[in-house]
Parts: sequence; C-alpha cells; structure tokens
Amino acid sequence: MSEIIKTQAIVLGKMNYSDSSLIVTLYTDHNGKVPAILKGARSPKSKLALIVDTLNHIEVIFYKKESRELQIVSSADLISHFPNIKSDLESTKYAFAVLELVRNLTIENESNSRLFKGLVRILEHFENKKESPSILFARFFMFLITETGYEIMIDKCSICGKELTPEFSIGYNFSTGFICNECLQSHSGFEKIESELFKFLYCLKNKKFLNGLKVTTIDEGNSFLERYVKEHIPDFKGIQSLEMFK
Ligand SMILES: [Zn+2]
Repeated sequence: MSEIIKTQAIVLGKMNYSDSSLIVTLYTDHNGKVPAILKGARSPKSKLALIVDTLNHIEVIFYKKESRELQIVSSADLISHFPNIKSDLESTKYAFAVLELVRNLTIENESNSRLFKGLVRILEHFENKKESPSILFARFFMFLITETGYEIMIDKCSICGKELTPEFSIGYNFSTGFICNECLQSHSGFEKIESELFKFLYCLKNKKFLNGLKVTTIDEGNSFLERYVKEHIPDFKGIQSLEMFK
C-alpha cells in the first residue's frame, strides 16, 4: 500500500541516477527529510528536473511507501527558485551550507513543521538580503541546533547559576558548558570566550538584531557552532559547502 502525499518542500540536493533519472533529497513540511526518485526526469521532454532543483521551494506530490528507500515523485510545481540567492556567490555559498546542515543533521521521515518553516523563512531572508549571508547562516545554525535537541544553554552559568550577560567574557568547555567570568577565574580546564564572540552567540540564541559586527567575530561564531555540533555528534564532519567555495 502506498499513500499519496502532497506537501511543500525545499530541495536539499540531487544526483543523477541511471541514464535518465534523478535522486533528490527533499525537506518536506509534512514528512521531514525524504529521499526520492524522479524517473525519466533527465529526458529533454521533462520539465520536472528544472522544478525539482537544489534550493528550490516546491509543492510536490509523491507516492510514499514506508518499506521503500526512495519515494517516487509524480509531479511538482515551483513556488520559488530564489533567483537573488543564485546570482550572488556569497549568498549561494551560505544558503548551500544551510541545505547541507539540514541534510546532515535531520533524520529521514521525522516530521518537524517548525524546522521546515524556519528553513523557508531563512531562504527568504537570504533572497531579500535581510542581513549578511554569514549572519543569516549563523542564525539558522543556532536554530537548527535547538530544533535537533542540542540546545546551547547560554543564559546561566553552569557552575554558580548566575545569569550570563554579553558584557563580559565567559568560559566554556564541552562537559560543563558556559560559565561566568568569576567562575572562569577560579576554575581550570575552561577556555576563555571573548565578550565579542559571546555577545554574538547570545544574540543568535535570543534572536536579537545585531549590527557593527566584525567579520572575524561572525566567522568565529560559525566555527564555534560547527565545533559544538562536532563535540555532540561525532559523525558530523563539518560543513563542506563553506570549504568548497573558498
Ligand atoms: Zn559562575
């Protein structure tokens, strides 16, 4: 028995399969991450390959059968192909890194409509150049870390419970988490996180607007989040898309 599903989706990636087919990874509103096949989509007569292209926001109909590894796409309509992202190298680089994170940090067929909506919203922000691509990427990275169950506790010192404020530098290590400046002075085994970097992470976590950030702080923030995920998910190999475009 297969079920017919109609849902919105973002195309996370694609690859050629056999002479004429395509295999794609979709992040869908109703079914989470879904690997699927588009049979015959590479024939010149088919428009499906243009619609179901990496990054595109689509509405898709597929036949779902639990026992099958690849679901079969029967048709798709385009909602947006984000032309402004695709015509700007920096936006492309970070938007592809967003797709890569979703591909690598979510589980197949585990639905999370909030994550889907967050993904669409961040791509729209990239498209409308709401903030710089590297900050938008960092915002999504922090959001995804929370959505996948690895929330960064950044509000209170893990040792004394005092509220952390972005005016001071703080300490961090993997097993304890973040600690206040005073505890940092009296405990060993912590690295110091400068207040600029902490302020950035704090604003990402608390969804505050940021301006006047140094590029180096943004890069350090993204590196920190990447390392944080590596510490919690040993299978995570880091973000290839950012390396590829260097
Ligand atoms: Zn403390």
